[in-house]
Amino acid sequence: MTAQWQKQMQNQVNTLEKLSTYINVSDDEKEAIQSLDTKWGTTPYFASLMDKDDPTCPIRMQVIPSMQEKVNKFGMKDYLLFKENRKTEEVRPDSIARQYTDRIAFTVIQDCGIYCRHCFRKELVVDQDLQLRFDVEEGLTWIGEHDEIRDVLITGGDPLLLSDEKLKYLIDSLRAIPHVQMIRIGSRLPIVLPQRITEGLKKAIGGFHRVPVWINTQCNHPKEITPETEKAVYELMSCGVNVGNQAVLLKGINDDVPTFKELHQKLLRTRIRPYYVFYCEPAPGIDHFRTPVEKGAELIRDALRGHTTGLAQPMYVLATNIGKIPLMPDYYIDDKNDAEYTLKNYKGETTRIPNI
Ligand SMILES: *Cc1c(COP(=O)(O)O)cnc(C)c1O
Ligand code: SF4
Repeated sequence: MTAQWQKQMQNQVNTLEKLSTYINVSDDEKEAIQSLDTKWGTTPYFASLMDKDDPTCPIRMQVIPSMQEKVNKFGMKDYLLFKENRKTEEVRPDSIARQYTDRIAFTVIQDCGIYCRHCFRKELVVDQDLQLRFDVEEGLTWIGEHDEIRDVLITGGDPLLLSDEKLKYLIDSLRAIPHVQMIRIGSRLPIVLPQRITEGLKKAIGGFHRVPVWINTQCNHPKEITPETEKAVYELMSCGVNVGNQAVLLKGINDDVPTFKELHQKLLRTRIRPYYVFYCEPAPGIDHFRTPVEKGAELIRDALRGHTTGLAQPMYVLATNIGKIPLMPDYYIDDKNDAEYTLKNYKGETTRIPNI
């Protein structure tokens, strides 16, 4: 039997004709779809969230190609090879990206539920002109041989597109490695294909075990959260899987104070813990989504810290080839001398504590 989520994948909205059954496609969108040589597409479910008439709809901007993708003033050539730190001395399988001593990113699949126009892995996932070999067995063997690796981050593509059987094998194999203490899965499916969270999936990745599983999803705008998302997240938590969010700061989508605040409040209400907000990386063809670097810190200062629940606060980071660099606002320490610190809150009020 074909599950509902598999039908969604078989019926991907990835042609002009199919897209036209959901929205009134604009001339610009039409031109980009017809002239750009790029992979694009979305699940019918996510397409159904698009605004019919507004090309600046946050769902449309993330899904539908744009002629602006041809403008590439700041994108770095061979960005992913640089970013994933592959040009180093250490010999590793293609599936293993390493920036830290105790944890790695393990790429197991190249396909996604939707092909985000802002994807920093575009060269691999969207344009597919980077050829790497993703061999799960080879990756598992490498992890087994490196006993300093205690945290494995399964990534892609979208790992939850693997069948229940393959996921179960992957999770069981990692859980059998004595030095693996935790597993993380990066997946947009709780947002773009919540139908994927089935009883079968819960059995494959959940359950009480020495090695917990965390999912980090990607949600960039409050419009992406529906009652289906809420149910899917609840189901994941009901089998012991924690859910966090890694948003991308995107110009014209979530870079204003009201949207940024609503996004984080709504995530928390949906039981998704905001984890990171990423600066939009200097990958090729995504200049039009990029804000100034300072923007994320300003949004945390003006929309989140002090303005809403502490649990709704993500860390703003720039992901680089040498790891993630925190770029949080720095207004808190107003002054410091031999006697005391002067500290500032979100309203600009100050207080003093002794410098011990
Ligand atoms: C993001 C990333 C990690 C995980 O970083 P955390 O800050 O622990 O979430 C690990 N390895 C690589 C290569 C990464 O890109
Ligand atoms: S789901 Fe992730 S890997 Fe896939 S296109 Fe979107 S950002 Fe890229």
